[in-house]
Amino acid sequence: MDPAGIVARLRELASERGFDRVGVARLEPSPHGEAYRSWLKKGHHAGMEYLAQRVEERLDPRTILPGARSALCVALQYWPLADAEEPSGDLWPRVARYAHGRDYHNLMGKRLKRLAKTLREEFAPCQTRAYVDTGPVLERELAAKAGLGVVGKNTCLLRREGSWFLLGEILLTLELPPDEPLTDLCGRCTRCLEACPTEALSEPFHLDSSRCISYWTIEHRESVPREMRRQIGDWVFGCDICQEVCPWNIRKGPVGEETDFHLPSQRQDLDLIQLLALPRDEYRERFRGSAMQRARLEGLKRNAATAMGNRGDEKYVAPLATALAQEEHAAVRCHAAWALGRIGGEPALRALTGARETEGEAEVLAEIDQALAELAANAGAPLPTGLPGGAKRP
Ligand code: SF4
Ligand code: SF4
Repeated sequence: MDPAGIVARLRELASERGFDRVGVARLEPSPHGEAYRSWLKKGHHAGMEYLAQRVEERLDPRTILPGARSALCVALQYWPLADAEEPSGDLWPRVARYAHGRDYHNLMGKRLKRLAKTLREEFAPCQTRAYVDTGPVLERELAAKAGLGVVGKNTCLLRREGSWFLLGEILLTLELPPDEPLTDLCGRCTRCLEACPTEALSEPFHLDSSRCISYWTIEHRESVPREMRRQIGDWVFGCDICQEVCPWNIRKGPVGEETDFHLPSQRQDLDLIQLLALPRDEYRERFRGSAMQRARLEGLKRNAATAMGNRGDEKYVAPLATALAQEEHAAVRCHAAWALGRIGGEPALRALTGARETEGEAEVLAEIDQALAELAANAGAPLPTGLPGGAKRP
């Protein structure tokens, strides 16, 4: 079969596996090596140390698989979905849309592996290596070369039909004719840069992960620095703001057919209050097969507490007080204390003062004291006796 015939067959097979778009990129050293190293040097990969590993492979994908010549890049639309409405409730609007349903790593990974097996069989002795957001591959760069989209100023891959799609790729030892890259779609638009609440997009095409809500709510373990908490707003997992404001997403784009990306019944009724109090066995049931497991239960609870504090609704005081008194993880208790300080009022003050009598961790005690100090400052009232600081029980 000639190379063009092979590409036509690859498109056919990828489409049969349920992928919405397919493109081919030639494998060659990245032209963005210097920019990538500079991004790492500035620490803009935040705590994601894996991004600083296997850099040579990332910058030259031919080194990942000996003899690799081309990449088959695929895209799968996850939003909007046919027969799916925007989920309601006080939690789901604030979970990044890609994470509402089944974990895409799992869903796309299985399909790509099956597709790679077929390719090895049909085009022997072709060798393959498949990845979905996991390998040492600059997958947006590859997908852009394969014509699946163009990198926007928000650093997402963008098409005229929008950016609500996920990427995967199979490296191949076949030499194939590449697709044509698309041309710039941003022009003079700067909406995403202006809308980002944390200034993570301080310059076009450049993401400082150490300021991005997605990083803090998903990747970061332990407490989130206080200066970031207000800016996180009520996002519980990830953030979609810089995509939501993009004019290409506001237009009516294509509709995904993948029912596995629908919010499943076991999570539909979950709200912030339930999430904050979720027992581990129920968490396993509710979040089985979900990408949200990446944040772990304690991370989701911490994020729920942050969201409650930023919403400022007094209905959250009682669940936050319970979390502050009973939660196992210090980071959850820290954020519960902070949130009570944000919400304020007599019940929050009582909860913080009571927790101060029983809390044994210095980190949490410091949060309680700070919350009490802020409450007192806001009320213009003197602090309760002995606060803040002072001797703490072991
Ligand atoms: Fe900013 Fe949110 Fe986009 Fe991160 S995901 S760059 S925090 S708008
Ligand atoms: Fe580009 Fe504007 Fe979309 Fe940002 S919001 S990615 S600048 S088109």
